[in-house]
Amino acid sequence: MSEQVTIIGAGIVGLCCALSLQDRGIAVRLIDRGEPGQETSFGNAGVVSPWSVIPQAVPGIWKTIPKMLLDPKSALSVRASFWPRMVPWGLRFLRKSDEKSVRNISDAMELLCRPSIELYRRHLQNTGHEDLIVDSNYIHAFRQSDQADLKALGYAIRKEKGGQLERIDGAELRRMEPALSRDFKAAILIKGQARVTSPGRIGSVLADKAHRQGAEFVRTEVTKLNRTDDGLWHLVTPEGPLHADTVVMAAGVWSAELLKPLGLSVPLVAERGYHVQFPNPSTVLENSVMDVDAKVVASSMQDGLRVAGTAEFANIDAPPDPRKQALLTEQARAMVPDLNTTDTQFWMGRRPSFPDSLPAIGPVEGSKGLFSAFGHSHYGLMMAPKTGELLADMVSGQRLNISMAPFALSRF
Ligand SMILES: Cc1cc2nc3c(=O)[nH]c(=O)nc-3n(C[C@H](O)[C@H](O)[C@H](O)COP(=O)(O)OP(=O)(O)OC[C@H]3O[C@@H](n4cnc5c(N)ncnc54)[C@H](O)[C@@H]3O)c2cc1C
Repeated sequence: MSEQVTIIGAGIVGLCCALSLQDRGIAVRLIDRGEPGQETSFGNAGVVSPWSVIPQAVPGIWKTIPKMLLDPKSALSVRASFWPRMVPWGLRFLRKSDEKSVRNISDAMELLCRPSIELYRRHLQNTGHEDLIVDSNYIHAFRQSDQADLKALGYAIRKEKGGQLERIDGAELRRMEPALSRDFKAAILIKGQARVTSPGRIGSVLADKAHRQGAEFVRTEVTKLNRTDDGLWHLVTPEGPLHADTVVMAAGVWSAELLKPLGLSVPLVAERGYHVQFPNPSTVLENSVMDVDAKVVASSMQDGLRVAGTAEFANIDAPPDPRKQALLTEQARAMVPDLNTTDTQFWMGRRPSFPDSLPAIGPVEGSKGLFSAFGHSHYGLMMAPKTGELLADMVSGQRLNISMAPFALSRF
């Protein structure tokens, strides 16, 4: 077992890996070019859902994609220059949309999502910020009553796995969430969830905890990674080289580029999402609420009401699309009619997405001492704590009594 593990990337995944490694007595060094937890992990919708066990590719999705692509107000868009990469990724995505694949992926997602609330509570214990995670329902709100159907595959699988789901009508929905529009005629409540009330702050708090427990933080950019003849990993940075015998790649969507010189080509894309946040909303939501038509999630955060969503496939460094601010603000008002939308904050982040909605966790085949912990797409906040636990078990040489095959980087 190594004396110190170097983690590239201090997003929520890298931070949870660090804490779990420390729990096992292993020293860690975290390298990030920015502040911990302030990249993709900063701007998400805060949903921590043990029942987020349904991948993005589901049966029949191929029928909805063309219509969404043609509608400028839909949640899905692809930048013209990205199509050459989109087509092969999209075909892999569609190949995983049959029910059998969905059920297999669902089992793997369950493994990562189920313990997330409990693990966050453990990580936050004695930080003074235990209130960063609060109990919540996840409300899926529908404008057309007949679409709120508990027999639909996604809800049926959740129920089979023991999730507590309930269908409610519009009146009951407004009793729970008076701020929501009367246009919503029904909802599915997914119970036993939680939400993080400031994803950016949870990153800072967990980084402080890791630091207090002895983690070394290095603020620099890793521009290249290679293995030297003495068996060490050599990390090239503008400040000079760093060396490590064990490296965890947790650089989110940027991980793919860093792995290329090792001959590894992985189908990881930047599935960009946006949020608008209203610092003076003049109204609150008690739960995470998804507008199922618009595919956006609204949640009251410590610093305002946030509405997050959209899937924009584009190059990592393409500038944000300013039209998304108007679109999300319009969608926010449609959900919460009395919302005060002055001083809107606008943000874009990059989900690190594989076609099967599962991350890569574990040793990288043929690269001794290198581990992957990236590719958490829409679910990184909730999957991060269990990712950390599994990763730390593997790094410390513990035998796992589960199959890690669904998370192997070599599955592609
Ligand atoms: C709009 C939106 C809503 C979302 N909502 C939810 C939600 O409600 N619940 C949920 O579970 N998930 C949600 N997600 C997904 C979740 O935010 C991501 O899966 C998660 O943040 C990924 O975390 P990460 O640590 O892998 O990546 P990041 O947070 O991107 O961290 C990677 C880190 O690596 C660093 N880095 C990269 N390259 C280098 C380098 N070369 N050298 C040094 N440092 C480097 C970066 O600076 C960054 O800090 C949402 C995402 C978006 C965009």
